[in-house]
Amino acid sequence: MTLDITTLRVAFGAVAVTLFVLFYTVSFRQTRSAYSAWWCAAIAFFFTGSTGYLLDGTVHQVWANPLSNTLLVMGTVSVWAGARTLRTSKPAWLQLSAAPLLTLLASVVDPPATNTWSGGPVFLGMMSLTIGLASWELWRLPSSYSRVEAPLAVASALVSVLYFVRCIAFIAEGQNGYVFTTYVGSGVTTLITLVLLVVVSFSAAALSAEQIATDLRARADRDALTGLLNRSGFLDLAALHTDRLARAGRPGALILADLDFFKAVNDTYGHAAGDAVLRAFAEASTETVRSTDLVGRYGGEEFIFLLPGASAARSEDIARDVSMALQGRRAPDGFDMPTVSYGIAALDALDYDLDATIAAADQALYAAKASGRDKAVRAIRPAGTTGGSSAEPPHGSVRTP
Ligand code: GH3
Ligand code: MG
Ligand code: MG
Repeated sequence: MTLDITTLRVAFGAVAVTLFVLFYTVSFRQTRSAYSAWWCAAIAFFFTGSTGYLLDGTVHQVWANPLSNTLLVMGTVSVWAGARTLRTSKPAWLQLSAAPLLTLLASVVDPPATNTWSGGPVFLGMMSLTIGLASWELWRLPSSYSRVEAPLAVASALVSVLYFVRCIAFIAEGQNGYVFTTYVGSGVTTLITLVLLVVVSFSAAALSAEQIATDLRARADRDALTGLLNRSGFLDLAALHTDRLARAGRPGALILADLDFFKAVNDTYGHAAGDAVLRAFAEASTETVRSTDLVGRYGGEEFIFLLPGASAARSEDIARDVSMALQGRRAPDGFDMPTVSYGIAALDALDYDLDATIAAADQALYAAKASGRDKAVRAIRPAGTTGGSSAEPPHGSVRTP
């Protein structure tokens, strides 16, 4: 049985249009996720690219053939770009446009008026490479992401291998070679791509819904003004970190920070200037701590840090560095940045009880405020007691610059 390529291409076009309409109305319009937008683009490119080949053998072949090659590569590039958005990496336009441009160039210089396989090896190679990159992106997603990314990664890897074999067969024995025409010819490829298009569209709808859910979850955990974790986001993650530290028996410290006389900034320079100071403090904090530390906005002008592995003494250094980084920033109206008071408590000193550690840090913060502000005070557990803690007297506190 030989597969009639024209019939197959018409069938492919009909299925692609149907999928596009269904996917656009059901998935894209409802989720508006970046992934579903790229998948819509991919289907549109596959449809137009494949349809263009119907003009082979006519006077239009000279422009339609190179254009079709390019459109199909744009389709696989869209699949790759979509997969990248799942890992929230921005599309790199230069990287994305390289493969279609190379394909166009190769297809134009290889006389396309007489050769329906103009630029063949470059076209096949670029298809294999870009869909292979899409598969690689999907593999790298955490396995907890959703249930469909693994089948999608396998499907794209298979297409990548198919095009790789076609490319090698084309280079080895030419477009009329036995392997190239019998096993991996246009008919077989169109049929396989048709099946995969349906399978992938089905899974893509699930992935696109998952992307929106992940995005919403991430936003719910963040403070809109500073971009730091908000209180509940911080507490959720801090509980996980505290459990891990407790199991490993490692030290860890918690810092509560409160800007000094912050109300005066608002009253004197306005609320917008106050907001700018809060953002500056957030930036000073994130650039000072390590990527494994947690920083959150605890509320108003109060911030909270969890430093896994750090002792209370080390936390004092970090508090000082944050204050220094804040003072190094310029306020919008050129006024001096406010100073900051800190309360520090060690998780390991309080049996890894997160609530008790926060309460101890809060007490220490209160002591820092009461004893003149602009300093860090460590909570200590008074001798002879097992629970609770009180703040060290002011002489034990460390002044921040
Ligand atoms: P202290 O040194 O005792 O901490 O004095 P303070 O003025 O910093 O403390 P107070 O609690 O009196 O004032 C905190 C102020 O923070 C009052 C509130 O309007 C302001 N604030 C809370 N959230 C925001 C915010 O998101 N933006 C701005 N601009 N101000 C905020
Ligand atoms: Mg304050
Ligand atoms: Mg306060």
